[in-house]
Amino acid sequence: MSDQPDGCDGHCDGCSQKTDTCQQPKKADISVRHVILVLSGKGGVGKSTVSVNLAYALSNHGYQTGLLDLDIHGPSIAKMLGIEDLRLQAIGNKIMPVKVTGSLKVVSMALLLNETDSPIVWRGPMKAAAIQQFLGDVDWGTLDYLVVDLPPGTGDEALNIVQYAPNVEGAVIVTTPQDVAVLDSTKAIKFVEMMELPVLGIIENMSGMVCPHCGDVIDLFGKGGGQKAAVKYNVPFLGEIPIDIEMRKAGDEGRAFIVRKPGDTKPNPTWDAVDKVMENLIVEVEKREE
Ligand code: ADP
Repeated sequence: MSDQPDGCDGHCDGCSQKTDTCQQPKKADISVRHVILVLSGKGGVGKSTVSVNLAYALSNHGYQTGLLDLDIHGPSIAKMLGIEDLRLQAIGNKIMPVKVTGSLKVVSMALLLNETDSPIVWRGPMKAAAIQQFLGDVDWGTLDYLVVDLPPGTGDEALNIVQYAPNVEGAVIVTTPQDVAVLDSTKAIKFVEMMELPVLGIIENMSGMVCPHCGDVIDLFGKGGGQKAAVKYNVPFLGEIPIDIEMRKAGDEGRAFIVRKPGDTKPNPTWDAVDKVMENLIVEVEKREE
């Protein structure tokens, strides 16, 4: 790949054709060190919850972080962060992301719509155009990480973001532990490999639950399926996050679970689990920089 900007040597970086005949889409001109895709084989496994908490954890650790909700048909990030009443503003020819903290910026389809309860009926080209705008027309500033929450399954949005975003490091796959969910996540692993991207790791969400009454661990959806899939497909395992009623409540109340309430100093295994997943992810990303 040329180290000159695309087209400066008269050839496209993507396909090596002459730039005047090249049909390849151009990468968006944004400053981001690592783009991380978050995928799942199916809905309801906690992909958006993990994206929100992972992005928040990265920003809490001092990384300038962007969170891009590309679940265009079912955007839930804004609700989970309690910013669903805010709207993206334009300044000059740039769209300003919503600043959740000094180091966490968010863009979502839900922040553009007047009616958030109406379905979005869009065909592929419209989605591709929106994704291009969410990258190139947004004033993201300089980011260390851009966490991209993709729709469940193996759709166009993932292909589009890989085409338009620079520095896509790879994908994180969220699954629940039971066999059927793991089966779906193996499709996601193969999809990521088809896009010629590394799988940065599997996260097993809803992995066991500590009974709030007796303290025993209940394996509601089983345990260990994500780890088994990681071994089988020779990809990293980033960790397990238990089912935690507080995590569900946080999502419904519009706050990231990992943001502790003032005065809350009690040890919290779920909080530690999310932090561990984030640390393991950073290790995987940094390995690739060496
Ligand atoms: P997806 O993005 O995969 O469709 P969501 O992140 O929207 O899934 O999560 C689905 C529901 O499960 C939400 O109500 C969320 O709060 C809840 N949830 C996700 N992970 C956990 C967890 N570890 N413990 C408790 N509830 C969870």
